[in-house]
Parts: sequence; C-alpha cells; structure tokens
Amino acid sequence: MTTNNSNTNNINKKKIFLSSPHMSDEGYEKQYIEEAFETNWVAPLGPNVDSFETEFATKIGSSYAAALSSGTSAIHMALKAAGVKPNDKVFCQSLTFSATANPIIYENAVPIFIDSDDKTWNMDPNALEHAIKKYPDTKYAIVVHLYGLSADLDPIIELCEKHGITLIEDAAESLGTTYKGKQTGTFGKFGVFSFNGNKIITTSGGGMLVSEDKERIEKVRFWSTQSREKERHYEHKELGYNYRMSNIVAGIGRGQLKILDERVAKKRYIFEFYKENLGNLDGINFMPINDWNNPNCWLSCLTLNSKIKPLDIMTALEKENIESRPIWKPMHMQPFFEKYDYVGGNVSRNLFETGVCLPSDTKMTNEDLERVCSIIKELWS
Ligand SMILES: *Cc1c(COP(=O)(O)O)cnc(C)c1O
Repeated sequence: MTTNNSNTNNINKKKIFLSSPHMSDEGYEKQYIEEAFETNWVAPLGPNVDSFETEFATKIGSSYAAALSSGTSAIHMALKAAGVKPNDKVFCQSLTFSATANPIIYENAVPIFIDSDDKTWNMDPNALEHAIKKYPDTKYAIVVHLYGLSADLDPIIELCEKHGITLIEDAAESLGTTYKGKQTGTFGKFGVFSFNGNKIITTSGGGMLVSEDKERIEKVRFWSTQSREKERHYEHKELGYNYRMSNIVAGIGRGQLKILDERVAKKRYIFEFYKENLGNLDGINFMPINDWNNPNCWLSCLTLNSKIKPLDIMTALEKENIESRPIWKPMHMQPFFEKYDYVGGNVSRNLFETGVCLPSDTKMTNEDLERVCSIIKELWS
C-alpha cells in the first residue's frame, strides 16, 4: 500500500507494514536456493518443486499437491479439475479478494455471489441454502477462509454433499488455520494456497493446489506445463498453461515452510496484543474467533460501531508511516462483477464499511505494537 502524504513529512518515522515478507533467521531459504544454483537447477520444475509439494502436503495433512505460479492459477486449475464448463454456475463467497472470483470468468462460467455471516465473516450456510433453492442445477462452490478465520465448514459440506456440489476451499489467507483440529484447505475436493508477498509465508509469488485425488492433481501438473503429451515431439491434445512453480521459488517455499508455526504464533500474539490493548475502546469489535477455529490470524481485523470511522484510523496511522487497510470490498459491489446475482443480506457490505485491517507484520516489535495502539487510543481521547 502506498503512503502518499504531501502535507505530512512521515518518511523519517519507522515504517510499519501491513504484512510483508519475512525470511527465516536461520537462512533456510538461501540454502535451498544455493543448492539449486550449484546444480544449475535454475529452471521451471526441479527437485525443490517435488520436495516442496511433498513437504507441504505432509505439513497440512493432505495426500497430493501441485506447486503453481500463484494462488490465482491454483484456483483456475481447481475449477478446471472440478469440471467447470462455460455457462456453469459457481457459488462464490462475495466478501473476498477478486482473485477468488476472476478464474470463474476465465472459464466463461457464471459466479453467483453469496453473503457472509457475522459469526465467521465467511460464507453464510443459510445464504448458500437459499442460493441452492434458487439455482438447483449449480454443481460448484468456492468458500474462503478470510484473514485466517475459518468458515463454518460442517453445514456447508453437508449442503454440498446433499446437492452434489463440488467444494473448493480458497485457503490463500489461512495456511496454518484449523477447523475442529483439521487444516483448512483439506476439507473440500480441492484446497488452494497462496505464497504471495503479503501472505503468512511467501515465495515472492506462488501457489499450491491440494487434493486427495491423485489423478486430478496429476492432470493439473499436465495442464500447467502446456499439456504436453508423452511424445518425443511436442504433441498437444488439450489447451495448456504455463502455471508451474520454478525450482528457485520452491526453494524459498521449503525454507519458509520450516518456520510457518513460528509465524502463526507471532500473528496470534499480534492479534492478542491488539485485543488486550484496544478491546475496551467503545465501539471496537475484533474479528470473531469461534471455539472450533484455531486461526492463523493472518491480519488482525476489527469493526467499528462508533463515531470513530475506519478512515479515521487509517488516516491517523498513515500519517505515522504505518500501513492499514479496509476489509475486502465484496464482489457483488464491484463494478466488474455487479451484473452477477447475489444471494444474502448486508453482512458483507457492513463488514466492508465498518472494518479495518491493522498492521500485522511478523517483524513488528512490542514497541511497534504499542505505537500503533497509542495512535488509535488517541482518537478516543
Ligand atoms: C492472495 C489471495 C488469492 C490469490 O493468490 P495469488 O497468489 O496472489 O494469486 C486468492 N484468494 C485470496 C482470498 C487471497 O487473499
């Protein structure tokens, strides 16, 4: 996020990021990259890619994984692997980053946006049930686990099973989060993760698709390397993509995976710190943590029911060279997507209008956290 204050000179103040890349103190990432350099595996594919897939799948308790160039490409491949065809409808959580919905359009399919509930901030099972009644021929759904909170998966899975709907989990923000003791991303037919620069672990850019279906994961590896048939010459019977992760990028991922638990612990510490220091301010509510959810707290978010507005907080922080941002603007409110149907009420809109994501960078010190809190408390005094 850019800070662009012409009238305030904040560049001398220590910058605090919303969430920025944080390599391991031990230098694991460098070791894997150096190995790749020494063996000249500076190429798409290679031993780091194979190992990253296996290590990642083991870490989250999934059987198969395909390392891809981004979370977005992983969602795209999930839709294709699930069998989405042009004009098929796909139920899609409205409150999310646009990357959840864009691949539905790549496949010329039709998103039906679904509201969130206040209990989880994610897909409202009641709204999904209404949507199924309205569009009973729909065979696909994408649920998201925003900010590391998990959706209430049991009722969603029950509805999907009852109506023959293939569930895709967008777990781009929730690596390390569990729902009833099991990792998010391992409940649906397909789970999607992202290693973009601001995610809880990063490879600069990258993504992972996981599934219990070996054949589908192998198919995704095939499509994402240009659908090249096993011939001496280049033979193509299907449309191909250049979506594979490179061996260098995968080396960073292997190193980052080793310190995922540390990063989760720090993100949770940051959230608890804010809750303890700001929780008593009139009209502040922190994001909901349900007892069945062990969240990674990727970003610490709150909503305001107060004379102080999200913009007041964001402006005050920006003046001090500190990043923050609003909650995602729902897809059904986006000019590009507003022509598609939306099922639900105003929960996602309210979250967007009243919510703020506080800086949640794992490099933050206690002094940094105190600085953020005192700037915010000042607004209430
Ligand atoms: C980051 C993100 C993505 C996309 O991942 P990229 O790796 O940036 O393509 C998808 N969905 C959600 C909810 C995200 O936050």
